[in-house]
Amino acid sequence: MPVIKNVLIWDSSRRDAQYGDIVIGESGLISAVTPPGAGRGDVVYNGGGRCLALPGLVNAHTHVSMTLLRGIGEELPLMEWLHKKIFPAEEKLTACNIRSGADLAMLEMISGGVTCFCDMYYFMDEVAASLVESGMRGALCRGLTGDDDQKISENLALAEKYDGFEGRVAVQLGPHAPYTVPRDAVRKIADIAREKNLGVHFHWLETKSELDTMRDRYKTEPAEYLESTGLLEVRELILAHSVWFPEEQISCAARDNVTVVHNPKSNLKLGSGFAPVRGFLSAGVRVALGTDGAASNNRLDIWDEMRTAALMHKGYHMDPTATGAKDVLRMATVGGARGAGFKNTGLLQPDFTADIIIVDTDNPRYVGLDETNVPEFAVYAGSSRDVRASMVAGRMLYKDGEFLTLDREKILRRAGEDRRSITKNSNFSG
Ligand SMILES: [Zn+2]
Repeated sequence: MPVIKNVLIWDSSRRDAQYGDIVIGESGLISAVTPPGAGRGDVVYNGGGRCLALPGLVNAHTHVSMTLLRGIGEELPLMEWLHKKIFPAEEKLTACNIRSGADLAMLEMISGGVTCFCDMYYFMDEVAASLVESGMRGALCRGLTGDDDQKISENLALAEKYDGFEGRVAVQLGPHAPYTVPRDAVRKIADIAREKNLGVHFHWLETKSELDTMRDRYKTEPAEYLESTGLLEVRELILAHSVWFPEEQISCAARDNVTVVHNPKSNLKLGSGFAPVRGFLSAGVRVALGTDGAASNNRLDIWDEMRTAALMHKGYHMDPTATGAKDVLRMATVGGARGAGFKNTGLLQPDFTADIIIVDTDNPRYVGLDETNVPEFAVYAGSSRDVRASMVAGRMLYKDGEFLTLDREKILRRAGEDRRSITKNSNFSG
């Protein structure tokens, strides 16, 4: 049986970390966590007492293929950015572009310790193929706009083909947002999700204008909207952003099947505001972290999101106790895994999937790390640069700089060609 030897092990169910070995069973589940040296089997990584083992990080709201649009239309107001730069560029994307953008994202995420992601886009068969080949875990949905039965059928076909695949793919339905999907269509999508036992991934109140539109157009409040559409009753519900979720209404989301995904860097970059994360935590709402697409971030780096999330709410509230490192590391691991619908992922415990990352702590920023301060070192001093290995369901995807499932050079070459073809003869760049 594969074994990871002599690492400092932390997950959000523990108060303190412990040095030990992690033994992985045939099924890709963790079979035991033992004292150092006691784990028997084939050594797949030896940390030598100088590495940290964490649950794989989860990017719980993204659009991976937007890696091809990185840097297009920088520093524009949101609606100008979308309508003048992003939507015209997206119209030109082919299925092949979606695949090469997704492959590019897999390289970035796997090497940065992200082992699971939740994605909404189109040509999702291409994203699914990329996910499957890379060995990652993920929850996928086809973005749905308008009241469009054709798009819903595509989303259901994706579910038919991939929901539950190898235990590492979930398919959700993807109504884009309250302002792009009529309320009756959202209700219909929620009904279908319940009937087919699928989750739903929804952009929710990213900007103030969306809250105003909800009140003006639907004459309704956010909590009432969620309840009346049936969204709160689906298998799992992802509410991406939730920046303008009114604080007095957020308790309606304190349910085991609901996850708010906080995207701190994208919200800052687009000037959207500060999500009420301190309020979510005190109301018992599960929070996860996401990068959103690479065009509004511009990284797919959950370490960066952790650090930003832990810092920005302290500054905003002028309160150094707001949104602590332990909370943030929980969001980035088990919080995201539960949002994606994977109930036995996100902890380093027996019978949980062996989705594990190895972090090199033999560097100057980790002097002082011990069993009692792992979340604080990881969140405030740590970096994706320190990731040495990423494993999903017991399969090593990346080790010591080498991608074991993907051809890095080929992916970079193809993505570069695709990017040039997208921006050729246009004013998209800049
Ligand atoms: Zn988004």
